[in-house]
Amino acid sequence: MQGLICEGTTEDSVRLSNSIEIVGQLSPRQVRVEIHAAGVCGSDLSCIHGKYYMPTPLVPGHEAAGIVVEVGSAVTYCEVGDHVILSTFGNCGHCGDCEAGEPGNCAVGMGGLSQPYVEGDQPLYNFANIGAFVQETVVSENQCIPIPKEMPLTSAALIGCGVMTGTGAVFNRARVQLGDTVVVIGAGGVGLNVIQAAKLVGASQIIAIDRVAEKEGLAVEFGATDFLIAEGDDFDAIAEVKKLSGGGVNHAFEVVGHTGLLADAIQMTRPGGTICAVGVPDLAATVTYGFQSLHQNKNLMGIRAGGARPRKDFRTLANLYMKGMLKLDEMISHTAGLDGLQGAFDAMRAGTEARTVLLPHG
Ligand SMILES: [Zn+2]
Ligand SMILES: [Zn+2]
Repeated sequence: MQGLICEGTTEDSVRLSNSIEIVGQLSPRQVRVEIHAAGVCGSDLSCIHGKYYMPTPLVPGHEAAGIVVEVGSAVTYCEVGDHVILSTFGNCGHCGDCEAGEPGNCAVGMGGLSQPYVEGDQPLYNFANIGAFVQETVVSENQCIPIPKEMPLTSAALIGCGVMTGTGAVFNRARVQLGDTVVVIGAGGVGLNVIQAAKLVGASQIIAIDRVAEKEGLAVEFGATDFLIAEGDDFDAIAEVKKLSGGGVNHAFEVVGHTGLLADAIQMTRPGGTICAVGVPDLAATVTYGFQSLHQNKNLMGIRAGGARPRKDFRTLANLYMKGMLKLDEMISHTAGLDGLQGAFDAMRAGTEARTVLLPHG
């Protein structure tokens, strides 16, 4: 079957293969899924550039939806024919963290490696427990969250990472309250979801900041009340946010994955506020901030994938979409075949679009 293989730490090291195969038989709780839509996320770019220190060769891609085509003998969470969104957690489902409702903290899922496919004799790793830029993959049953069949798979795929990461930061981690004020640094695919979640819970002010002026339209459509363009040497984001919010916001979300912006976010927050590290820089990066900027009872939060409980939260998000309360279609700027990855990365760098979704089956 067709899929993308990354063999190094540059975009040039990614190539399209027509001879990837799934290895062996399914174990009792595994599921084989035909991937019909896979969003291109900033984490795919980071993965390919070696910023997550993944071994290669690997199949990238992790924001996906598809159709179940085979289930292991003990699978009860889904059945053949189900439309599913895939979760990146790959958690065990029965350790203390999983039973406490914190599957993202499960030691099995974080950093676990597997090689579900081969090209010839060469085993291939999967990125983020999925490896979605391929026509079929194998995952654990608790990574498969069934959704209504009427939901377009292209829109559903986005819930698997970008939508969950953005909305979950608001709902599960910062727990933004009615009337709170918010700043969102970075109005791309994930930032738009921070914005729309903050609107859903009734934030009274949502300030979006981006370096690309064209993003204002979507940011406002998704719920931003103010938009600041980060351009020019004179632009002082901290001063602008303090001025607009009357001294600082309750919640600052850094979505770009830039350590300097995370330090700025601490200063944009009022005493008692929360600073959410949503974006992911190089995992070995160091953040430097002035001690006093955090001192007044502020909370600096690390957030992995929106603090998701995928089997609960993915369903909630899918239901909100089906009822017209959550925007997903508006985020899809382009669709393309698996050969469209480089174009998606170029558009991402230019900052001109929210999301490209790859369609492995055309
Ligand atoms: Zn576990
Ligand atoms: Zn992602």
